[in-house]
Amino acid sequence: MLRFKAVEETLGREPVEVQEPNGRPSDYFGEYVFNREKMFRYLPIKTYEALVDAIDNQKALSREVADGVAAGMRQWAIDMGVTHYSHWFQPLTDGTAEKHDGFIEYDGKGGVVEEFSGKLLIQQEPDASSFPSGGIRSTFEARGYSAWDISSPAFILNKTLCIPTIFISYTGESLDYKTPLLKALNSVNKAATAVCQYFDESVKRVTAYLGWEQEYFLVDEALYNCRADLMLTGRTLMGHESAKNQQLEDHYFGSIPLRVEAFMRDFEIECHKLGIPCKTRHNEVAPNQFEVAPIYEEVNLANDHNLQLMTVMNNVARRHKFRVLLHEKPFKGVNGSGKHNNWSLGTDTGVQLFAPGKTPMANLQFITFVANVMAAVHKHNALLKASIISATNQHRLGANEAPPAIISIFLGRQIGELVNKIIQSPTIEALSLAAKSELDLHVFQVPELLLDNTDRNRTSPFAFTGNRFEFRALGSSANSATSMIVINAAVASQLMEFKVNVDNRIAQGMSKEEAIFAEVRKILIESQPIHFDGNGYSDEWKAEAARRGLDCENSAPLMYDNYLTPQTVEMFKKTGVLTHSELLARNEVKWELYTKKIQIEARVLGDLVMNHIVPVATRYQSILIDNVFKIKNLFPADKVEAIAAKDMDEIEKIALHMHAIKELANAMVEARKVANRIESEREKAIAYHEDIEPYMEEIRYHVDKLELMIDNEIWPLPKYRELMFIK
Ligand code: ADP
Ligand code: MG
Repeated sequence: MLRFKAVEETLGREPVEVQEPNGRPSDYFGEYVFNREKMFRYLPIKTYEALVDAIDNQKALSREVADGVAAGMRQWAIDMGVTHYSHWFQPLTDGTAEKHDGFIEYDGKGGVVEEFSGKLLIQQEPDASSFPSGGIRSTFEARGYSAWDISSPAFILNKTLCIPTIFISYTGESLDYKTPLLKALNSVNKAATAVCQYFDESVKRVTAYLGWEQEYFLVDEALYNCRADLMLTGRTLMGHESAKNQQLEDHYFGSIPLRVEAFMRDFEIECHKLGIPCKTRHNEVAPNQFEVAPIYEEVNLANDHNLQLMTVMNNVARRHKFRVLLHEKPFKGVNGSGKHNNWSLGTDTGVQLFAPGKTPMANLQFITFVANVMAAVHKHNALLKASIISATNQHRLGANEAPPAIISIFLGRQIGELVNKIIQSPTIEALSLAAKSELDLHVFQVPELLLDNTDRNRTSPFAFTGNRFEFRALGSSANSATSMIVINAAVASQLMEFKVNVDNRIAQGMSKEEAIFAEVRKILIESQPIHFDGNGYSDEWKAEAARRGLDCENSAPLMYDNYLTPQTVEMFKKTGVLTHSELLARNEVKWELYTKKIQIEARVLGDLVMNHIVPVATRYQSILIDNVFKIKNLFPADKVEAIAAKDMDEIEKIALHMHAIKELANAMVEARKVANRIESEREKAIAYHEDIEPYMEEIRYHVDKLELMIDNEIWPLPKYRELMFIK
C-alpha cells in the first residue's frame, strides 16, 4: 500500500508487548498515588490525622502539619525511585503544566541531601510569566503562584512527584481551571445541602460526581510523521475522503485490532497505577476511533484523572508506534471525538439526587433537583455552550454526528410524562387526590426500571440518563473543568434562588411540601423551552429552538460573549466562583487562543500547499504535457485530438486548481495581515473566524480535487485510506 519506502520500514505491524504488572489490578491500583494507605504508612499518626481532617473538612493545613506531610511524601517518593517534584497545574491553555525541581539541596559539606519542605509542598512560584493571564498579571509583575489542592492526592508521573495545585496571581485571581472549579463545587455543595435539608436534616454534604467518556483516534506514528498538518495542528487540513470510511458501521463496537488492544492494556495498567479507575473500552463509530471510560468519581478528582489520562495515553502510544489524536475533528467526513461528561449529585447520606426514590417524598426531592437543573440549563444555555466551544470543537458542533450547536435537555418518556403531570396539577393536593391513598402519590412513583430504560437519544447535548445527566457537547481535547464550572455554578445559583422562594412561600403559610411543589411546578413551567426529546440534528429543531428563545449562535468568538452578560456576571458573583475582572481576563485568553489556533492552521496550510502540493501538481502536469507533445510527434494530426483530448483536459484542470490554490493562499495571507493589525482580541478572533477560516475550506477543496487526479506514486502526503485503517 505504501508509496513511502522509509515509512514502510518504520511502520508498526505487530502488537508491542504489554508491560505486564505484578498481580491483579486490585494489587497495583494506586501504586503511584500518595493515597490514604501511604499517608498512614509514611506519616506520624498525628500528622496523618490532621491531614485527613483537613481533606475531609476542607480546612487549611498548618505549616507544621505541611512540613510533616512533605517529609513523609518525600520519603515515599524516594522509595519509589523519584528524584524530582513538580507542582502540576491547569493553565488556561490546553492540557497541564509542570515545572520540575530536584529534591536536592546543599548539605553544607560539599555534597547534597534530598530535601522537600512543607513550604515547597504547599506553595511554589513557577515564574510562569508566559502563561496567559488575560492581562491580570502584567509581565513586569509576572508572579503567579501555585498552591496544593489537598483534595487531590499527589502522584508519580514518569519518576516525578506531581502535586496537584491551583494557580493564582498574587492578587488572588485565578489563572487556571482548577481554582474556579473548586469554588463551583463548594458552592453547589452548600446550595444543594440546604435544599436537601428540606427532606432530610441529617444531610451535611452534597458531592458532585463526574464520569467522563474519552474518545480518541489512533494513527500510526510513521504516517503521522509524514503529515505536518497532524503534527502541528492535530488535524488533517487536507485529504480526500477514503472510498471506505464509516458507511458500513463495521468499526463501532467491532473487535479491537490486536495492536490497539495491546496499547489499551498498557495505558490502562499505567492508569490503574495512578488510581484512575478505567473500566470501559471500545471501538467508536469512525475507523481508528476508540473510547475509554472510568468509573465515576468526585468531579475535581475525576477531572484531574482525565487530564492525567490524556498525558499517559500520549506517552504509552509512542511505545506502540501510535499517536493519539485528541483533536475533536482530525478527519473530515467521519465522526469527530467528544468527551461526554456524566454528571450527578449525591449526599453524604447515600442518596443520588437524580435517581428516583422509593417514597413519594424521595421522589419529590428527585424531581426538585431535576427541575432545578432544567431551570439552570435553561437560563444559562448560551453560557453552557460557550463553556464547551473552542477553535477545535467548532468543527464538531453542529455537524451531523455530534450534539447540535443548541443546548436542550432530553428527559425521556417517563420523566417527560411526570413533568407534564406536575405542570397540569395546580396543587400537590390535586395530585394526591388522583392517587388512591395519601401515601400513594401516584405521580411520584417513578418506575425503578428507569435506569435500564433510558430511551437513549444520541442527538441530545444534555440528556437525562436514569440517575445522572450526560453533557455530550464537550470536545475530546477539552479540560472538563470548563463545563463543570458552569454547570455546578449555575445549578448552585438556581438552588439558592429556589431555597429563597420556597422559604418565602413557607413564611406565607404554605406547608413545606406545598411550597416545594409550587416552586418546582413554577420552574418546570418556566423552563419548558429547554426540554426537547426530538431529533436534535433536524432543521425543524433549529427553527423551533430559535422560536423558543434558545441560543442558536454559531460563531465561537461570539459565543464567548456569553461569559460577560450581566446574567452570567451576576451568577458567578453570587456563587463566588469568578469575579467580573476574572471573567474579562479569561475571555481575553479565550479569544487570543482562538485566533492563535486558526493562525497556526492557516500558516501550516499555506506552507503545505505551496511547498508540497503545488510542486507535485506541477510535476505531474509536466508529465502530461510531455506526453501530449509525444503523442503529437507520433500520430498524424487528425488522430491527435482523439488521443490527447483527455490529457489536455486534465492539464487544464490541474492548472485551474493550482491557480486557485495560489490565489487563495495569497489572499489568505493578506487577510491575515489585516486581521493581525486589529488591537482588540475579540475583534481579531471574529476576523479570524469570518475572514480567514473560509479560505482554508476553499483551499482544501482544490487540494482534495488534485489528490484524486495526481499520480498516487508522487502524492506527498499519506492519504485518508492509509491513515485510518490500522491493521
Ligand atoms: P455510555 O457510553 O453508554 O453512555 P459508558 O459506560 O461509556 O456509558 O460511560 C458512562 C459513564 O457514566 C461512566 O464513566 C460511568 O461511571 C458514569 N456514571 C454512571 N453513573 C453515574 C452517576 N451517577 N454520576 C456520574 N457518572 C456516572
Ligand atoms: Mg460510552
